Amino acid sequence: MKKSLMNRRDFIRNSAVAGAATALRPKIHSATGPVAIASRNGLGAVARAVEEINAGADALDAVITGVNLVEEDPNDRTVGYGGLPNADGVVELDSAVMHGPTGRAGAVASLQGIKYPSKVARLVLQRTDHVLLVAKGAQDFARMHGFSIENLLTGEAREIWVRWRETLSNRDDYLPPHGPDDVDLGQAMKRSYEHWGTIHCSAIDLQGNISSVTTTSGLAFKIPGRVGDSPIIGAGLYCDNEVGAAGSTGRGEANLENCSSFLIVERMRMGDSPQDACLYACERIAQNTHLARLQNQAGEPAFNVSFYALNKAGEVAGARIRGAAQMSVADKNGARHIDMAYLYA
Ligand code: ASP
Repeated sequence: MKKSLMNRRDFIRNSAVAGAATALRPKIHSATGPVAIASRNGLGAVARAVEEINAGADALDAVITGVNLVEEDPNDRTVGYGGLPNADGVVELDSAVMHGPTGRAGAVASLQGIKYPSKVARLVLQRTDHVLLVAKGAQDFARMHGFSIENLLTGEAREIWVRWRETLSNRDDYLPPHGPDDVDLGQAMKRSYEHWGTIHCSAIDLQGNISSVTTTSGLAFKIPGRVGDSPIIGAGLYCDNEVGAAGSTGRGEANLENCSSFLIVERMRMGDSPQDACLYACERIAQNTHLARLQNQAGEPAFNVSFYALNKAGEVAGARIRGAAQMSVADKNGARHIDMAYLYA
């Protein structure tokens, strides 16, 4: 039976410490010198980023070069070229970058036809006085800087989209009128995992400067125009050169509502390890998830969000709301996957 909202809230408040104590906490990995972290799909990206840093690159350029590998990979269905399209069959990309030394950020959202949204986000940072450009304005800006417009929908991604349309039933994002206790809305409460995915990458360079990037094709089959957390500074990523950086993948709406990446960096500023800060953000989302349609029978979030963080000392860790998983890290010991902490098994 689902606990009432009041009971669930009290439970979480009273057991915040106990909850954290039972959360699985793998060893924190610490490194000096160049270090890069990414979501699991970023093993090649972190290796590349550290290579670039060792060759003298600034952390911002290094992480962007790293994630470009995934943006151009037709087999990653969640990022850039080959990403799954929106409900109309159009690939719409979101990306943001943040540069620690200058504190500047740049981002693009709902960008169509450009394979490397992270590069356009960097241009927004470098060549405008703005932070976020969207849709046609972002595409025009990219074209002004020499990017060509391409069809990003691969044959395989198109076939997956066609299959989705042909079986269209309860897998879109339109909701009928409902109350907080409704669970079965005939809507996709149990989205299959291929609907989600993104790459986040943060790094420390040889000068000790920190920068971050997040890039994604967003939620598969989303309502056209839907923007997730990835291009929103403070939600999909945040970076403070004196403290550290954090980024996320998973249900973007939860991060938008909780400013999770900013929260993680602020927790690290207050002394949390990267792992504790990431778990704190997971707990905050659990506390703020009140609607029955977003909860499982135990009253826990029925969705997942993953966080990746590093601090100024080069300590790295990640945590997610639910289930064991791994993230990517590269440092002087090479590139590898490491275990992430989690709140619920
Ligand atoms: N966070 C991304 C979004 O909401 C998707 C994901 O990471 O799976 O667009």
